[in-house]
Amino acid sequence: MKEIRILDKSFREMITEEAIRMRIGELAEQMNNDLKNKDVVCLGILNGAFLFAADLFRRLEIPARISFVKLASYEGTRSSGTIKELIGWNEDIRGKTVVVLEDIVDTGHTLERIMAELVMRKASEIRIATAFYKPEAYRSNISLDYVGFEIPNDFVVGYGLDYDGYGRNLPSVYTLIH
Ligand code: 5GP
Repeated sequence: MKEIRILDKSFREMITEEAIRMRIGELAEQMNNDLKNKDVVCLGILNGAFLFAADLFRRLEIPARISFVKLASYEGTRSSGTIKELIGWNEDIRGKTVVVLEDIVDTGHTLERIMAELVMRKASEIRIATAFYKPEAYRSNISLDYVGFEIPNDFVVGYGLDYDGYGRNLPSVYTLIH
């Protein structure tokens, strides 16, 4: 088993590069079938989804566009904690089929935030694709249309996912060794 170290923590390989490549091929095939006659805009959520978005988008054979947004945290003016804003919109999604490309869905809070924004901007249809999903942590009832891998509720890095900024360039996914 491959083990790596990032900063102060050790991680063990959990999903190989090859397994990810194969699974993304399957997701792309499903999407090619499902979304054949739609006007599709893929929406990658930065930073984590950049590799997943690139790999999946390249395998799409339907006419599709891609755009990226980022969730920026800022402190609220009152003591209401951190507010997350989606920044970087440059695409009119009104009336479009939007496919959200997420790196990982954990509690689902991020997804809820994104969903609200897409509804406000009047997308006609919204689909969710995520590379990784932690069902044990999920607290939302938004249904996920394309899930790469269901994983246990542990911290993972690699394939776009970071630990303190590092590890995004790892081609496999690694899980924290406790
Ligand atoms: P949620 O809002 O669903 O709880 O969390 C989603 C976000 O939390 C992801 O987009 C990702 O940035 C971060 N996240 C959740 N689980 C993990 C994990 O295991 N590893 C890393 N690196 N980030 C995670």
